[in-house]
Amino acid sequence: MAHELNRHTFDAVMVPNYAPGAVIPVRGEGSHIWDQDGRSYIDFAGGIAVNSLGHCHPELVKVLTDQANKLWHLSNVWTNEPALKLAQQLCQMTFADKVYFANSGAEANEAALKLARRYAVDKYSADKHQIIAFDNAFHGRTFFTVSVGGQPKYSEGFGPVPEGISHLPFNDIQALEKAISHHTCAVIMEPIQGEAGILPADPDFIRRARELCNQYNALLIFDEIQTGVGRTGELYAYMRTGVKPDILTTAKALGGGFPIGAMLCTDEVAQAMVVGTHGSTYGGNPLGCRIASRVLELVNDRDLLDGVRERHLMFMDGLDELNDRHHLFSDIRGHGLLIGCQLNDQWQGQARDLLVHAQDAGVMVLIAGPNVLRFAPSLIIPPDDIHTGLERLGQAMVQFLHTRTEEA
Ligand SMILES: *Cc1c(COP(=O)(O)O)cnc(C)c1O
Repeated sequence: MAHELNRHTFDAVMVPNYAPGAVIPVRGEGSHIWDQDGRSYIDFAGGIAVNSLGHCHPELVKVLTDQANKLWHLSNVWTNEPALKLAQQLCQMTFADKVYFANSGAEANEAALKLARRYAVDKYSADKHQIIAFDNAFHGRTFFTVSVGGQPKYSEGFGPVPEGISHLPFNDIQALEKAISHHTCAVIMEPIQGEAGILPADPDFIRRARELCNQYNALLIFDEIQTGVGRTGELYAYMRTGVKPDILTTAKALGGGFPIGAMLCTDEVAQAMVVGTHGSTYGGNPLGCRIASRVLELVNDRDLLDGVRERHLMFMDGLDELNDRHHLFSDIRGHGLLIGCQLNDQWQGQARDLLVHAQDAGVMVLIAGPNVLRFAPSLIIPPDDIHTGLERLGQAMVQFLHTRTEEA
């Protein structure tokens, strides 16, 4: 069927920085999506770990509609009740004493990095500005955050990058011991590297990073934009490590699909962000905060979080079974509902192709780099949908292998 707005329209009028799939989804409910032609898909992608409660969760539609009829936006010239309530919740539920609201993950990290620099310069000295980050890390797409991120291809070609940023191999304790010094203002890490391919930080590495940060008066920043809000079966991934950060950033799942980000920090650190140091027009708007507040109420629930762990096992069992049959993956890893399947040597670079076959078979999946298939579905995806989606993934794997034997 020909549609007036279609994939060709994208090429005609949109900046070519994305390469979206051929189908255009028009409706979602729970973990199902329908495209323009009424074809349905099981959603294992979750909007890249964003649709934490699936599509159009009735409770979220309710608070969104209610707030839409009350107050959408004010600016930070005045505060508002939903923002105050959400900040209170985040402080009660985590290590944090103070919250700053942004509209995206990158903005939350931008705030965290600026704060870390400002705190060190105010409290110690102007030359305490080194930021330590890790190879392949992903922290967003603003210029500061791509510079701190560990994938040079994202920061190259835009002129001079900000100085004072060091990149070390991830999970390498010795490299960190060697690089950190009194010039370090912050160490930033993802508790599980997401875009890099679902690579968990070693517990020993996290603990040692905390010790070294204490020793050198550097701040430890956890980027929990992908791992936060229930994704790993804890409200935040740090909660299973026994290590508390000084600053934590959260976004993606926080709004359940509504754009919002937040930076959480201790009282001590927050003091550096005096009036005028940083800000955002939309950050902390009542509409976004009201929705995030309900998301947190629903997600920070022992049953829901235990359900994430149960679903993790369903995925792992199903994926193991598929792999026993088709032998595509050398490793299947992750926590909770953030799972990565590493393609084995024979199929390097072909994750995207497998994703397209999955879509053709009726299941939406993600990739994390060229060699990893990634799943980040709704935290409450019904078990039946998991089974159906995995069945379809199995069909996709057969098709993927089939096209390859034909070519050979
Ligand atoms: C997605 C992501 C970001 C960037 O978030 P945006 O909302 O796209 O700006 C930063 N850090 C991590 C770990 C992410 O997964």
